[in-house]
Amino acid sequence: MQRRNIPQSNPLIRPTPPPSSSTASLSSIPQSNNNALPVASVVRNNCGTQPFDKNWLNVDCCGLVCAVMTYFLHGFGCYVVCFVLIPSWMKYEREDGVQKLTFWGIFHSIGFCLVAAMAIISHLKAMCTDPGAVPPDAEPIPNDLDTKKKRLCRRCNSFKPDRAHHCSICKRCIIKMDHHCPWVNNCVGIGNHKYFLLFILYTFFSCAYSMFLVVLRFGHCMNIRTSAHCLDNPASLLSIIALTVESVLFGLFTLCMMADQWDVVLTNVTHIDRLKGDIFEESADSAGVNEVFGIGVGGGKGKRWANFRTDWLSPFTKVCFPVSVEDDIMGFCRPCGFSTRNEEEEDDPVVSSDGSPRTITGNEEIV
Ligand SMILES: [Zn+2]
Ligand SMILES: [Zn+2]
Repeated sequence: MQRRNIPQSNPLIRPTPPPSSSTASLSSIPQSNNNALPVASVVRNNCGTQPFDKNWLNVDCCGLVCAVMTYFLHGFGCYVVCFVLIPSWMKYEREDGVQKLTFWGIFHSIGFCLVAAMAIISHLKAMCTDPGAVPPDAEPIPNDLDTKKKRLCRRCNSFKPDRAHHCSICKRCIIKMDHHCPWVNNCVGIGNHKYFLLFILYTFFSCAYSMFLVVLRFGHCMNIRTSAHCLDNPASLLSIIALTVESVLFGLFTLCMMADQWDVVLTNVTHIDRLKGDIFEESADSAGVNEVFGIGVGGGKGKRWANFRTDWLSPFTKVCFPVSVEDDIMGFCRPCGFSTRNEEEEDDPVVSSDGSPRTITGNEEIV
């Protein structure tokens, strides 16, 4: 935990009152003279979901346990495939008596571990990426203020764009929030929807791959000529049965999730929007796809699948939008234009979001 002293220059934030028990993390330092700026200090955790925390991570026991279980299950799958299923099957004996994996044994071992690794990396990215939290200095897009009132979230005390919903676990308003997923220990929103989709896609591939190998192995054992290489160790058999159960359960689960998410991406209507009946006007036929996977260089709006890029399948490629459309997609603009996350520059002006008194003007409403 790190405490920073920072000049309070944003007009949204009034000078803070003396610290009380409810605003222990925020204090104001009295001005020594009339020319000095009021200074506020905020708590910056290494991991958290608050605006000034260095890295996005929900410190939620249930979510963290689910994440560890996910890694364990993928690790278990790799162990059974690489050390139980394949070595007893795809092997040959050298002249000196040493047993070696065949080419296909090595191929399937590496292939399966790569798919599992992509699933784990996608999970890590989905868990540790800001899902689209509204920053404390967010302001309505000027054109919008002409037609509607500025909405304020009563719980995080910040501007709430049209497509934002408040998550009580993340304690932030999230743009285009689909749901809070305990499996990835994070909200699924505009910032990490792609990583979430990749996680369920690679998990499905991993389950399908292991089922393919188990079925192939079963067929191999049924063959009288090759059944001599079948398992005779009960512990190995139990491991393979456990892998089969795991693959069937999670394979079906991820298949259902993919079908469900397919609808969300193509219609550009999230689960929460659907529950609340909030249907927003689509800007283009391909809006959902573009907002999930990003808009590449040269735009490409209006075409849906013609713009498919291989980097959609990479959890290492960040989703980004051209500057010209970013504010429209996010639903807010940032008058100060500074970032509060993953930046170490001490000169950055930052403002506090909690405990600061806000004045509600006639053009604002609390939701
Ligand atoms: Zn909120
Ligand atoms: Zn959440």
